[in-house]
Amino acid sequence: MNGPSYSAAELLSRLVHFDTTSHRSNLGLVSFVEDYLAQHGVESHLVPNAEATKASLYASIGPSGVPGVALSGHTDVVPVEGQTWSSDPFVLTERDGRLYGRGSADMKGFLACVLAAVPDFVKRKLAVPIHLVFSYDEEVGCLGVRPLIADIRRRSTPPRMVIVGEPTSMSVVDAHKGPVRWHIEVKGRAAHSSMAPLGVNAIGIAGRLLQELARIERELKLAPRAERFDPPYATLQVTRINGGTATNIVPVYCRFDFDVRALPGVDVGAIDRRIRSFAERECLPEMRRVAPESGIDIRIANQVPPFAAGAKSEAVALALHLAGSNETHAVSYATEAGLFQEAGSAAVVIGPGDIAQAHAADEFIAKDQLDRCMAFLDRLGAWAERGAPPG
Ligand SMILES: [Zn+2]
Repeated sequence: MNGPSYSAAELLSRLVHFDTTSHRSNLGLVSFVEDYLAQHGVESHLVPNAEATKASLYASIGPSGVPGVALSGHTDVVPVEGQTWSSDPFVLTERDGRLYGRGSADMKGFLACVLAAVPDFVKRKLAVPIHLVFSYDEEVGCLGVRPLIADIRRRSTPPRMVIVGEPTSMSVVDAHKGPVRWHIEVKGRAAHSSMAPLGVNAIGIAGRLLQELARIERELKLAPRAERFDPPYATLQVTRINGGTATNIVPVYCRFDFDVRALPGVDVGAIDRRIRSFAERECLPEMRRVAPESGIDIRIANQVPPFAAGAKSEAVALALHLAGSNETHAVSYATEAGLFQEAGSAAVVIGPGDIAQAHAADEFIAKDQLDRCMAFLDRLGAWAERGAPPG
């Protein structure tokens, strides 16, 4: 089937035009991709969310029943609210060899390259299939990819390798940290502030917990370093706090969030157990003596596993071969790679654009990054046709 061919820049312009900020629907973009693939004779499979307002898309080119190479990216973008842009963030605008627009780097640039490569993939007689795996809600905790991975495992042959096209300036990333977010809610008892002993001050209790978190933060910093990462240790930050009612009331509630960026191998469960046992030991007995209804609720709100491909990863070997590189890198931002790896597919991260521009005002992708990604995908097509081992 001879569907239409477009350049990566043309497709990127179409993709940027869909406002797929994470809190909005991505269905417009998904149906555009579905139509485009159908014009090339490629069938899409959608995995909608529970409300049917968003969907992930999965498609395969090449033989079925053979584990292939998946090209994975997220369709959502971060908000533009509060940012000052020089041009409309949802209209791709070229200035000085750069294409400006929300998601141009993170990561519609990669999706556009993959779609632009589809006619070539279809033309080739692929021995190893190439899968397209497009998710939603990556920017709010890699939510969409989890049911997508489960669905792929249920319905078809899971990919042997997954290339996650987050912006790495086309260098090969074989490790990243994993963010874990806790939400803590302290419930005390309100009282007139002149009668403080009748109340339990939720902010005061939260303060003790924050001190324990500061101790954990220092210990993480002193733990053996992983010099490949910047910074070379796991970080812990309290990121949000909220509590109290009025200046003359002992506060009944205090809620806060903290975030750990775990290195591969850091025992996140140990941090969770430590803060729970501190609450149990150092806070609750005293709170309950005054107010039996008081309590401390601690829960992990979101967790993305860290990623470490390992020295023998065939996905890393393939990416190095296709990129013509012999160097791998570690990064501090998270991707979906750890989740794919956990599900049994060898993963690697490589994609066009610079992470420095991701999430920022005037986000852009340099046009030569798109060219480099197209060359990478061209070599992937040739490799998948040969069915050759990497190297
Ligand atoms: Zn991203």
